[in-house]
Amino acid sequence: MKLFGTVIADSDTIIEDGAILVDGNTIEAVGKRNEIDSQYPDSSTYTADILCPGFVGGHIHSVQSLGRGIADDLELLDWLFERILPMEASLSPAEMEIAAKLGYLEMIESGTTTCVDHLSVHHAERAFEAAGEIGIRGVLGKVLMDQRSPDGLCESTAAGLEESEHLINKYHGSFDDRIRYAVTPRFAVSCSEDCLRGARELADRYDGVRIHTHASENRDEIATVEEETGMRNIHWLDEVGLTGPDVVLAHCIWTDESEREVLAETGTHVTHCPSSNMKLASGVAPVPDYLERGINVALGNDGPPCNNTLDPFTEMRQGSLLQKVDRLNPVVAPAPTLFEMATINGARAAGFEKLGAIRPGWRADIVGLSTAVTRATPLHDPLSHLVYAARGDDVVFTMVDGEVLVEDGEVTAVDAESIRDEARNVDLSIDEHLADAAQARP
Ligand SMILES: [Zn+2]
Repeated sequence: MKLFGTVIADSDTIIEDGAILVDGNTIEAVGKRNEIDSQYPDSSTYTADILCPGFVGGHIHSVQSLGRGIADDLELLDWLFERILPMEASLSPAEMEIAAKLGYLEMIESGTTTCVDHLSVHHAERAFEAAGEIGIRGVLGKVLMDQRSPDGLCESTAAGLEESEHLINKYHGSFDDRIRYAVTPRFAVSCSEDCLRGARELADRYDGVRIHTHASENRDEIATVEEETGMRNIHWLDEVGLTGPDVVLAHCIWTDESEREVLAETGTHVTHCPSSNMKLASGVAPVPDYLERGINVALGNDGPPCNNTLDPFTEMRQGSLLQKVDRLNPVVAPAPTLFEMATINGARAAGFEKLGAIRPGWRADIVGLSTAVTRATPLHDPLSHLVYAARGDDVVFTMVDGEVLVEDGEVTAVDAESIRDEARNVDLSIDEHLADAAQARP
């Protein structure tokens, strides 16, 4: 298949009147339209105004998608213990599947082709199946919680790790290796030392399995960890093995100099979630400082209840603006940096090689956008447009692993309206789980 349009192959390479040739699940050639067209005359064609690599959501909670709008304007631990944990505890297997599908649907509609997805304690299998069916690429993990957790979510250390291993055996490398596994402790507060060490030990036994958790998002969180362990959170995670080039830590807002040195020395990936951090007033992650130290920083939406969208364009824009206002310096966090965080840095965090840019021999995860909107007129700089003005609604074409999932703005992979209908019909029963969650709160 030949794709025609302005190709933003990476943050340095923009090809006007460009083309991409896709063969199977691989990008075969990239170049000027007339050259590719004459070299490969027989392929089918699709034209979009802008073509770019699919975006990578470096920290997402697809299964929280049914909770959009139920937890606004709250501080993190209130948000978590009064709304989100009770909601997760309440979901039946069928509801978990609907939630996951809704999340993956929103992602492919708005340009995210890969997600690092933090599921829930129960019914994770339903999300793996949903991701496989919809066609998104992802690193998914069942959540581990073995302390300070509501009855409906708390499980024994052994049970959580055993189910994780079962899921690794069933799904890691599944669906043509689009779907991989990350061992996923919720955060240090809700996981015992045995659980955290067990997560490392389990990940080490399987090639390519990653570790994904939240870290240092909130000051109450790091105070709780320090009280219990006598260590700053990142030092604690390092102590129990949860740092390294196979580890993705979401947020990392409240880190001191010595913790940042650990992140850099160990090659740990950080996912920045600017909208979530702003909405929960968690703080401003020191992203420019991390990047200067050579730490790989990806970009993520976090979950619909704390964002409230899974639109990757929103995150690029907010990620840039947040750093500028924090430093009172408009030069920091420029558009190319945010584009890299949302594409190639995300791919590195997710652990998929040959992903996150449009290059010959790389994976065919490609997004096409329309610029037939006033916001894109005149279009002086396509990369600036993507970071500062484009929206998920501008996405008209989504390809993952060479498969077309969205074409002409319509989802072709699944029946989108029936997924939205099912989601509308779920009746969340959060109240039954409020007392349990309140008891478990640190
Ligand atoms: Zn999160």
